[in-house]
Amino acid sequence: MPVVRGLNVLRDAAEAPSLLGTSASPVRDRVRTEALRIARDEALVEAAYSYRIVPFDAPLAATMHAGGETLHAPRLLSPSGRLTALACAVCTLGPRIEERVRLLFAERRASLAMVLDELANAWLFEVSRRVQDRMHADVIRQGLSMAGELRPGDPGLALEAQPAVLRLVGAEALGVRVNERMLMQPHKSTSMVLGVGMDLPPTEWSRCDECRNRATCRAAARVEAQKATGSRTPTGV
Ligand code: SF4
Repeated sequence: MPVVRGLNVLRDAAEAPSLLGTSASPVRDRVRTEALRIARDEALVEAAYSYRIVPFDAPLAATMHAGGETLHAPRLLSPSGRLTALACAVCTLGPRIEERVRLLFAERRASLAMVLDELANAWLFEVSRRVQDRMHADVIRQGLSMAGELRPGDPGLALEAQPAVLRLVGAEALGVRVNERMLMQPHKSTSMVLGVGMDLPPTEWSRCDECRNRATCRAAARVEAQKATGSRTPTGV
Protein backbone atom coordinates (compact mmCIF):
# COMPACT_ATOMS: atom_id res chain seq x y z
CA MET A 1 0.00 0.00 0.00
CA PRO A 2 1.42 3.41 -0.91
CA VAL A 3 2.91 5.40 1.96
CA VAL A 4 3.96 9.00 1.36
CA ARG A 5 6.06 10.88 3.93
CA GLY A 6 7.73 14.26 4.08
CA LEU A 7 4.88 16.22 2.51
CA ASN A 8 5.70 19.90 2.53
CA VAL A 9 2.36 21.35 3.54
CA LEU A 10 3.98 24.39 5.14
CA ARG A 11 4.94 25.53 1.66
CA ASP A 12 1.23 26.24 1.17
CA ALA A 13 1.13 28.43 4.26
CA ALA A 14 0.52 31.44 2.02
CA GLU A 15 -3.04 30.11 1.75
CA ALA A 16 -3.45 30.10 5.48
CA PRO A 17 -5.17 33.52 5.76
CA SER A 18 -8.21 32.17 3.92
CA LEU A 19 -8.21 29.12 6.15
CA LEU A 20 -8.06 31.24 9.25
CA GLY A 21 -10.76 33.65 8.14
CA THR A 22 -10.70 37.09 6.64
CA SER A 23 -11.06 39.16 9.79
CA ALA A 24 -7.45 38.74 10.88
CA SER A 25 -6.23 41.75 12.79
CA PRO A 26 -2.62 43.00 12.70
CA VAL A 27 -2.13 41.41 16.11
CA ARG A 28 -3.50 38.10 14.86
CA ASP A 29 -1.29 38.38 11.77
CA ARG A 30 1.75 38.73 14.02
CA VAL A 31 0.71 35.72 16.08
CA ARG A 32 0.20 33.72 12.92
CA THR A 33 3.60 34.70 11.58
CA GLU A 34 5.15 33.61 14.87
CA ALA A 35 3.25 30.30 14.79
CA LEU A 36 4.47 29.64 11.25
CA ARG A 37 8.03 30.45 12.26
CA ILE A 38 7.87 28.04 15.17
CA ALA A 39 6.42 25.29 12.99
CA ARG A 40 9.14 25.74 10.39
CA ASP A 41 12.13 26.31 12.70
CA GLU A 42 11.24 23.42 14.98
CA ALA A 43 10.16 21.10 12.14
CA LEU A 44 6.91 20.42 13.96
CA VAL A 45 5.01 18.98 10.99
CA GLU A 46 5.79 15.44 9.82
CA ALA A 47 3.00 15.16 7.27
CA ALA A 48 2.39 11.72 5.82
CA TYR A 49 -0.36 9.54 4.43
CA SER A 50 -1.02 5.92 3.59
CA TYR A 51 -3.84 4.59 1.44
CA ARG A 52 -5.22 1.43 -0.11
CA ILE A 53 -7.89 0.56 -2.64
CA VAL A 54 -9.44 -2.58 -1.17
CA PRO A 55 -11.68 -4.82 -3.32
CA PHE A 56 -14.65 -6.46 -1.63
CA ASP A 57 -14.11 -10.01 -0.33
CA ALA A 58 -17.79 -10.94 -0.51
CA PRO A 59 -20.93 -9.93 -2.40
CA LEU A 60 -21.82 -6.33 -1.71
CA ALA A 61 -24.25 -5.51 1.09
CA ALA A 62 -24.74 -2.72 3.62
CA THR A 63 -22.21 -4.52 5.79
CA MET A 64 -19.12 -4.67 3.61
CA HIS A 65 -16.28 -7.16 3.77
CA ALA A 66 -12.96 -6.00 2.36
CA GLY A 67 -9.35 -6.82 3.12
CA GLY A 68 -10.43 -9.21 5.88
CA GLU A 69 -12.27 -6.40 7.70
CA THR A 70 -15.97 -5.66 8.10
CA LEU A 71 -17.45 -2.18 7.80
CA HIS A 72 -21.11 -1.21 8.03
CA ALA A 73 -21.31 1.71 5.63
CA PRO A 74 -24.66 1.58 3.78
CA ARG A 75 -24.35 5.24 2.87
CA LEU A 76 -21.64 4.33 0.37
CA LEU A 77 -24.04 2.09 -1.58
CA SER A 78 -24.69 3.76 -4.89
CA PRO A 79 -28.12 4.05 -6.58
CA SER A 80 -26.48 3.25 -9.93
CA GLY A 81 -23.18 1.95 -11.22
CA ARG A 82 -21.39 -0.87 -9.39
CA LEU A 83 -19.45 -0.46 -6.17
CA THR A 84 -16.42 -2.78 -6.29
CA ALA A 85 -13.96 -1.57 -3.64
CA LEU A 86 -13.27 0.82 -0.80
CA ALA A 87 -10.64 3.55 -0.96
CA CYS A 88 -9.24 3.88 2.57
CA ALA A 89 -6.65 6.36 3.82
CA VAL A 90 -5.00 7.71 6.93
CA CYS A 91 -3.27 11.10 7.18
CA THR A 92 -1.20 12.51 10.01
CA LEU A 93 0.95 15.48 11.01
CA GLY A 94 2.84 13.39 13.57
CA PRO A 95 3.01 14.04 17.33
CA ARG A 96 5.33 17.05 17.54
CA ILE A 97 2.92 19.82 16.66
CA GLU A 98 0.31 18.82 19.25
CA GLU A 99 3.03 18.50 21.89
CA ARG A 100 4.16 22.04 21.05
CA VAL A 101 0.59 23.34 21.28
CA ARG A 102 0.28 21.74 24.74
CA LEU A 103 3.56 23.31 25.81
CA LEU A 104 2.42 26.76 24.66
CA PHE A 105 -0.78 26.42 26.70
CA ALA A 106 1.29 25.34 29.70
CA GLU A 107 3.44 28.45 29.20
CA ARG A 108 0.23 30.55 29.18
CA ARG A 109 0.73 31.59 25.57
CA ALA A 110 -2.84 30.67 24.69
CA SER A 111 -3.22 32.90 21.59
CA LEU A 112 -0.14 31.45 19.98
CA ALA A 113 -1.21 27.92 20.96
CA MET A 114 -4.66 28.37 19.42
CA VAL A 115 -3.33 29.81 16.18
CA LEU A 116 -0.76 27.01 15.87
CA ASP A 117 -3.56 24.52 16.48
CA GLU A 118 -5.73 26.14 13.78
CA LEU A 119 -2.83 26.04 11.35
CA ALA A 120 -2.33 22.36 12.15
CA ASN A 121 -5.99 21.69 11.33
CA ALA A 122 -5.53 23.47 8.00
CA TRP A 123 -2.39 21.45 7.23
CA LEU A 124 -4.12 18.18 8.10
CA PHE A 125 -6.95 19.20 5.78
CA GLU A 126 -4.37 19.79 3.04
CA VAL A 127 -2.89 16.31 3.56
CA SER A 128 -6.43 14.86 3.29
CA ARG A 129 -6.95 16.69 0.02
CA ARG A 130 -3.68 15.35 -1.37
CA VAL A 131 -4.39 11.73 -0.52
CA GLN A 132 -7.87 12.00 -2.01
CA ASP A 133 -6.42 13.45 -5.20
CA ARG A 134 -3.85 10.62 -5.31
CA MET A 135 -6.47 7.92 -4.79
CA HIS A 136 -8.71 9.55 -7.36
CA ALA A 137 -5.88 9.54 -9.91
CA ASP A 138 -5.19 5.83 -9.23
CA VAL A 139 -8.85 4.95 -9.58
CA ILE A 140 -9.27 6.93 -12.82
CA ARG A 141 -6.22 5.12 -14.28
CA GLN A 142 -8.04 1.83 -13.69
CA GLY A 143 -11.11 3.12 -15.53
CA LEU A 144 -13.09 3.35 -12.30
CA SER A 145 -14.74 6.18 -10.42
CA MET A 146 -14.77 7.23 -6.77
CA ALA A 147 -17.70 8.72 -4.88
CA GLY A 148 -18.67 9.61 -1.35
CA GLU A 149 -16.53 10.12 1.70
CA LEU A 150 -17.06 8.92 5.23
CA ARG A 151 -14.84 9.18 8.28
CA PRO A 152 -15.36 6.97 11.33
CA GLY A 153 -17.77 8.85 13.59
CA ASP A 154 -19.70 10.42 10.71
CA PRO A 155 -23.39 9.60 10.28
CA GLY A 156 -23.19 6.41 8.23
CA LEU A 157 -19.93 5.03 9.63
CA ALA A 158 -19.66 4.30 13.33
CA LEU A 159 -16.65 5.53 15.27
CA GLU A 160 -16.06 1.89 16.19
CA ALA A 161 -15.00 1.34 12.54
CA GLN A 162 -11.80 3.28 13.24
CA PRO A 163 -9.55 0.30 14.17
CA ALA A 164 -10.61 -1.63 11.04
CA VAL A 165 -9.92 1.37 8.78
CA LEU A 166 -6.51 1.87 10.37
CA ARG A 167 -5.63 -1.80 9.92
CA LEU A 168 -6.66 -1.66 6.26
CA VAL A 169 -4.17 1.14 5.58
CA GLY A 170 -1.35 -0.09 7.80
CA ALA A 171 -1.54 3.00 9.98
CA GLU A 172 0.98 1.54 12.45
CA ALA A 173 3.69 2.21 9.88
CA LEU A 174 2.95 5.93 10.25
CA GLY A 175 2.81 5.69 14.05
CA VAL A 176 -0.97 6.23 14.04
CA ARG A 177 -2.97 4.27 16.59
CA VAL A 178 -6.41 4.38 18.13
CA ASN A 179 -7.01 4.14 21.86
CA GLU A 180 -9.84 2.42 23.72
CA ARG A 181 -11.99 5.59 23.40
CA MET A 182 -11.48 5.46 19.60
CA LEU A 183 -9.34 8.60 19.67
CA MET A 184 -6.50 8.66 17.18
CA GLN A 185 -2.98 9.29 18.31
CA PRO A 186 -1.36 11.50 17.18
CA HIS A 187 -4.51 13.61 17.51
CA LYS A 188 -3.68 15.53 14.33
CA SER A 189 -4.54 12.47 12.26
CA THR A 190 -7.60 11.52 10.28
CA SER A 191 -8.86 8.51 8.36
CA MET A 192 -11.42 8.13 5.60
CA VAL A 193 -13.30 5.64 3.47
CA LEU A 194 -14.64 6.32 -0.02
CA GLY A 195 -16.52 4.17 -2.51
CA VAL A 196 -14.84 2.93 -5.69
CA GLY A 197 -16.55 1.31 -8.64
CA MET A 198 -17.83 1.43 -12.18
CA ASP A 199 -19.89 4.38 -13.37
CA LEU A 200 -20.63 5.64 -9.89
CA PRO A 201 -22.67 8.85 -10.00
CA PRO A 202 -21.57 11.80 -7.85
CA THR A 203 -23.08 11.47 -4.39
CA GLU A 204 -25.94 13.75 -3.50
CA TRP A 205 -24.88 13.79 0.12
CA SER A 206 -21.88 15.14 1.96
CA ARG A 207 -20.41 14.11 5.29
CA CYS A 208 -20.96 17.76 6.28
CA ASP A 209 -24.74 17.67 5.70
CA GLU A 210 -25.63 16.87 9.29
CA CYS A 211 -22.63 18.48 10.96
CA ARG A 212 -23.53 21.08 13.56
CA ASN A 213 -20.35 23.02 12.74
CA ARG A 214 -21.13 23.42 9.08
CA ALA A 215 -22.27 27.05 9.26
CA THR A 216 -18.92 28.15 10.64
CA CYS A 217 -16.61 25.48 9.24
CA ARG A 218 -13.78 26.97 7.19
CA ALA A 219 -12.79 23.59 5.78
CA ALA A 220 -16.26 23.01 4.36
CA ALA A 221 -16.39 26.56 2.96
CA ARG A 222 -13.02 26.06 1.31
CA VAL A 223 -14.13 22.79 -0.29
CA GLU A 224 -17.30 24.41 -1.62
CA ALA A 225 -15.18 27.20 -3.12
CA GLN A 226 -12.82 24.65 -4.70
CA LYS A 227 -15.72 22.67 -6.15
CA ALA A 228 -17.24 25.86 -7.57
CA THR A 229 -14.00 26.70 -9.35
CA GLY A 230 -13.45 23.08 -10.46
CA SER A 231 -10.09 22.92 -8.64
CA ARG A 232 -11.10 19.90 -6.56
CA THR A 233 -11.80 16.29 -7.41
CA PRO A 234 -15.52 15.48 -7.40
CA THR A 235 -15.09 13.38 -4.26
CA GLY A 236 -14.47 14.39 -0.73
CA VAL A 237 -16.18 16.41 1.99
S1 SF4 B 1 -18.64 20.79 8.28
FE1 SF4 B 1 -16.44 20.90 8.77
S2 SF4 B 1 -16.27 19.91 10.78
FE2 SF4 B 1 -18.26 19.29 9.90
S3 SF4 B 1 -17.86 17.36 8.82
FE3 SF4 B 1 -17.63 19.01 7.31
S4 SF4 B 1 -15.42 19.48 7.34
FE4 SF4 B 1 -15.83 18.32 9.21
